[in-house]
Amino acid sequence: MTAITNHLPTAELQALDAAHHIHPFTANGELAEKGSRIITRATGVTLTDSEGNEILDAMAGLWCVNIGYGRDELAEVAARQMRELPYYNTFFQTTHVPAIALAAKIAELAPGDLNHVFFAGSGSEANDTNIRMVRHYWALKGKPSKSIIISRKNAYHGSSVGSGSLGGMSAMHEQGGLPIPDIHHINQPHWWAEGGDTPEDEFGLARAQELEAAILELGEDRVAAFIAEPVQGAGGVIVPPASYWPEIQRICDKYEILLIADEVICGFGRTGNWFGSETQGIRPDIMTIAKGLSSGYAPIGGSIVTDEIAAVIGGDEFNHGYTYSGHPVAAAVALENLRILEEEDVIGHVRDVAGPHLKEKWEALTDHPLVGEAKIVGMMGSIALTPNKATRAAFEEPGTVGYICRERCFANNLVMRHVGDRMIISPPLVITPTEIDLLIARARTSLDECHAILQDKGLL
Ligand SMILES: *Cc1c(COP(=O)(O)O)cnc(C)c1O
Repeated sequence: MTAITNHLPTAELQALDAAHHIHPFTANGELAEKGSRIITRATGVTLTDSEGNEILDAMAGLWCVNIGYGRDELAEVAARQMRELPYYNTFFQTTHVPAIALAAKIAELAPGDLNHVFFAGSGSEANDTNIRMVRHYWALKGKPSKSIIISRKNAYHGSSVGSGSLGGMSAMHEQGGLPIPDIHHINQPHWWAEGGDTPEDEFGLARAQELEAAILELGEDRVAAFIAEPVQGAGGVIVPPASYWPEIQRICDKYEILLIADEVICGFGRTGNWFGSETQGIRPDIMTIAKGLSSGYAPIGGSIVTDEIAAVIGGDEFNHGYTYSGHPVAAAVALENLRILEEEDVIGHVRDVAGPHLKEKWEALTDHPLVGEAKIVGMMGSIALTPNKATRAAFEEPGTVGYICRERCFANNLVMRHVGDRMIISPPLVITPTEIDLLIARARTSLDECHAILQDKGLL
């Protein structure tokens, strides 16, 4: 048996990595000089690197390892499924048991009449499916002009050509000819950075009403759908004002516009409910899922759609699919993950134990001189670093201070990410109160060290 083990010294692994491996969202030349950190194993919420450091992973990988690392049950299920049926497709009038069982389970968990699943290999692929599906849906309903999808600046919906276009990341749009036609971006409900003197709720309402203004400007007969994350993740864990989502729902109801909730991060317990849409009180027509669906143990994503959409789409051949749509090993792993989430009441743990504990400790970080606001919903949180809390000022070169803080976190064996000058967390849902205390202690140490560095450099 060929095992992939850590058989080489770190420096040699780093040299091979630098020589042959192109990393995503990375300045690879710079990284090659510095050397990657090499993660060799993990259990629970703790990663181990090739130097033997034990690191608390407050990002759950990339927002995905909801049940924590090292669950043997998922490994067993994957091995069993690989022996029984490692692959078969779901094209050409065939199917298999893992895809059937997973689709049925997702339909049971999803709210309302979201009862049908189109599988993909990732969140990006699922959002590409959504672009084609909503346009095809309106064409089948005799309204082919409804092809524009409205999204938001600083949204993240994936990195393929389609999903990257849906997203509102200007740095991504600058590379590779994005966005594709008929994607329209409105402003985000980011009060801390963009709210000025407007009270939070008033600002939330105004940002939601930009959707109505866009529909009226573009024409209702041109707009197919609105897509948004219930809570923006990669954009910096931006929790919208309470006034925002009810107004968005009202507008989607008033006009003939499909609402797509991108649940790739919020789904499967992260906000304290099965879906972020439940936390925000919205009724989407389509949900994008991935990440927590399998807790990242296997790559799988999908689009959950209503009875009505499934019925319309079913009226014609949908010329779309992926080789790995409903991949049997990934589907079996996802099913086992959902079983664990349900039987161990992981969502109850988020709602009643870990969530309230983290909220209390996280919000207390605002007593630190660098921390302006602290936001948290379930197991996703952010803090805004600022040189002046009263004016919500930004640092001069956005992202520099966030990067310094991130480096201190790394040095203190804590994975906490920075988005500009916001620090964000999204730990495994199974994190215990004791582990939360450790997370907060390391975050405080890192913030103190960052503060000292800024004072030394005269940046405060
Ligand atoms: C990560 C993410 C995606 C893309 O998922 P991939 O599996 O990386 O393609 C889409 N939407 C949201 C909200 C995400 O966080």
